[in-house]
Amino acid sequence: METVIIKGNIISAPEFGKLEITENGYLIAEDGKIKGTYQKLPQEYENAFIEDYGDALVMQSFSDMHLHAPQYPMLGIGMDRPLLEWLNTYTFPTEARFADKDFARTTYHRLAGELAAKGTTRVCMFSSIHREATLILMEELENAGITGYVGKVNMDRNGGENYLETTEESISETVRWLEECHFEHIKPMITPRFTPSCSKELMQELGKIAKEKNLPIQSHLSENTSELDLVKSLHPDCTQYWESYQKYGLWNDKTLMAHCVWSDETERKAIKEAGVWAVHCAASNENLVSGYAPVRVMMNEGLNVVLGSDIAGGDHLSMFKNITAAIRASKARRIMDDRKTEFLSVIEAFYLGTSAAAPFFGEKPGFAPGNALHAIVVEDRTLPVVRPLSIRERLERCIYRREHGCVLAVFSEGKKIYKK
Ligand SMILES: [Zn+2]
Repeated sequence: METVIIKGNIISAPEFGKLEITENGYLIAEDGKIKGTYQKLPQEYENAFIEDYGDALVMQSFSDMHLHAPQYPMLGIGMDRPLLEWLNTYTFPTEARFADKDFARTTYHRLAGELAAKGTTRVCMFSSIHREATLILMEELENAGITGYVGKVNMDRNGGENYLETTEESISETVRWLEECHFEHIKPMITPRFTPSCSKELMQELGKIAKEKNLPIQSHLSENTSELDLVKSLHPDCTQYWESYQKYGLWNDKTLMAHCVWSDETERKAIKEAGVWAVHCAASNENLVSGYAPVRVMMNEGLNVVLGSDIAGGDHLSMFKNITAAIRASKARRIMDDRKTEFLSVIEAFYLGTSAAAPFFGEKPGFAPGNALHAIVVEDRTLPVVRPLSIRERLERCIYRREHGCVLAVFSEGKKIYKK
């Protein structure tokens, strides 16, 4: 049996708005699974090796539930354009580059390494339309110790120059890609880019494949008002955007929908009833001037809400930064709503960036016994203090002020995948 014992100030979010803190405690995992968090080292482990991080913070690692791997090379550019223009001018030409396998290998190797170093150990990720580059991405993530899902993007209309599939190609390449996926920790996910990029025939076929193979699905929903108008013109029979996914079998409790900025009460009810996951991408929503998603209202209504960096609409891979972006967006929303809606507290937003995604991966929130060990160790001694801070204050400050080089170690599926 392989035992991992981590000593430090252990912090987890077992419930929305709640923290569990064990100061100078022990987090123990056996064969990759958490056994428990202990104030005193249980006797049976007296002679075991201890990863002693002293006064450092040991917290849950992050889940980034929406990001575009082939947009990694365009991080931080094109921010002056709204969504549909941004796609055509910057995004499609960048993604088209991934027809080149060497380019894909170098770029994805770097992306996977950066994710690990930043403490993101679980992802749901879009690749490009390229089958081979998608397999390269999956392999690089697997080798870096990242876990989760990746999707080969499907798009057979409204693409860019050299960046479009025929309907037949899109389907046959997807089928072939699914046969070629053989990774232990990175699994495939059905990924229609969004309704405007996919013909009805393609959507229909993807819904069928997802059902037959019992695969999760990811796409985009109600991000921007021009997109809403476009969907309406393409699917006049649908009263609302979500119906364009539902009618093709792409709408269930294994579906992730990024953004949901403009989802009204009716659409939010449909999200809740189907158990669809709303992925809040606050930085991207602001960068592309899409809007402020009513994230606090969604939580109050009982929707499954998780966070995504949405690079490269988002400008940072670090989930610390995306958590603070979600808090700021909820505050902007409160201002817009005449202060009638609450904003997200730091602890609530920390939950959304960590525990909220646990059930999607078949786990319980927090460092629950039986969960796979996913944790990061963070050093905060480099920040100035005027008085001793509580662990909760230190966590809050880490979320806002974590600086480069503060992550000492990252564990994923019980293995140390990064060490400073
Ligand atoms: Zn996206």
